Amino acid sequence: MTKLLVLGGRFAGLTAAYTAKRLLGDKVDVTLINNTPYAAFRPGMPHVSIGVFKAEDLEVDLATALPAKGIKFVLGTVNAIDAKKNKVEYSAPDGKKENITYDYLVVAFGAKLGVEHLNGWDDYGSSVCEPDFATALHEKLEKFEGGNIAIGSGVFYQGTLKPRGKYPENWASVADSACEGPIFEMSLMIPAYLKKRGIMDKTHITIFSPGEEILTDIAKESRGVVKSLFAQAGFDTVWNFKLKELKKGEIVSEDGKTIKADIAIVLPPYEANDAVKNSTPDLFDDGGFVVTDEHMRSVKYPNVYSCGDSNQITVPKLGFLAVMTSRIAMQDLANRLGVPTKVDTYTPEVVCIADNPLEGFAIAVNDTTFYGGDEKIAQPSATNHIKKELFTKYFMWTNGDMALDKYLASW
Ligand SMILES: Cc1cc2nc3c(=O)[nH]c(=O)nc-3n(C[C@H](O)[C@H](O)[C@H](O)COP(=O)(O)OP(=O)(O)OC[C@H]3O[C@@H](n4cnc5c(N)ncnc54)[C@H](O)[C@@H]3O)c2cc1C
Repeated sequence: MTKLLVLGGRFAGLTAAYTAKRLLGDKVDVTLINNTPYAAFRPGMPHVSIGVFKAEDLEVDLATALPAKGIKFVLGTVNAIDAKKNKVEYSAPDGKKENITYDYLVVAFGAKLGVEHLNGWDDYGSSVCEPDFATALHEKLEKFEGGNIAIGSGVFYQGTLKPRGKYPENWASVADSACEGPIFEMSLMIPAYLKKRGIMDKTHITIFSPGEEILTDIAKESRGVVKSLFAQAGFDTVWNFKLKELKKGEIVSEDGKTIKADIAIVLPPYEANDAVKNSTPDLFDDGGFVVTDEHMRSVKYPNVYSCGDSNQITVPKLGFLAVMTSRIAMQDLANRLGVPTKVDTYTPEVVCIADNPLEGFAIAVNDTTFYGGDEKIAQPSATNHIKKELFTKYFMWTNGDMALDKYLASW
């Protein structure tokens, strides 16, 4: 039986593993390695920080969910991919180094949150990007009695997309931030949370971005609406702020600018996964992201696919794109293994719902202008909040199987 090995078990890895099994059944033996026993639903982590969910409510138990669909689960940390020998080295939970071979590989271990680039992170940094960060922020917010809050994104260590994969030029370009959707979402959620606690009038909020302004991956008109929302709310905004250091009461940029912050809520700098350093170099571009063609096959090693945040093609780094890339990759694999299957075309789009659960509305963004298209929707409505709730439930009910996301889910 053909051995398919999947590295990573969140949007991209889960979609790849479930789709491969669905399309190929017994023709393929699927093993998935992930470094945590659960898959956390990342789009719900902002909600954890304001107490709407607990982190454990949003975790899929991989050791149960995957075998139930005929997929083997290995708990381990991938250290290296040897693409010339079709071999992956990982560390088991007891620290022992193990090797596993494959016929086909899916690299879906995402990007790394490079908090080590930020001096003072351990003492003063807060984030919503992982369950433990979101839980810690919730504890901090519960004790907060007013002061200064800064919300913004770190630098994206993306490299320069060299060498470029084989796909249309407009599909990927260099971005200021890896993903500012959560920043926009927190700019809605935090004031709502503080109003509920009766301390919004004692709080000053500053929104910052490493880019020329926030959300440079969506249309100028939509950005204009966002900026007027910030102005109406009385927020300060600081652009071109490349975060370097967090201190007691303030944060500092690379060029020495400061923003007052008793709490700094940050999307940490994104960079390539640590395992890239020990892996076959020509799998990756100069930023450490995998170089592929339009079906997500490595340009140099065609039996290696890469999907989601680890692939060069996905800019900005979005779950919506992670699922699309995995589906395309496994449709391509099905054809190679003798099961005729229609392969979808990658149609990049910034799709995201910035939710405000405490006030019962959300702003849904559908935007293709970053890729040269003309779609530019930024729509606030109560229905969009309900869509986000349904999306969360859908992910949990299906154990992260996004097969019907275009009908049932909402990003
Ligand atoms: C707070 C937040 C909210 C977001 N909300 C949205 C949203 O509403 N809509 C949207 O479209 N996108 C959203 N995104 C972006 C989205 O979450 C990511 O694009 C998506 O998670 C990428 O999926 P992935 O599977 O490629 O990578 P990841 O989600 O990073 O998953 C990688 C997996 O691999 C594992 N892993 C990493 N390294 C190793 C290793 N060495 N060995 C073994 N396992 C490893 C990780 O534990 C993880 O399970 C959000 C991001 C954040 C931070």
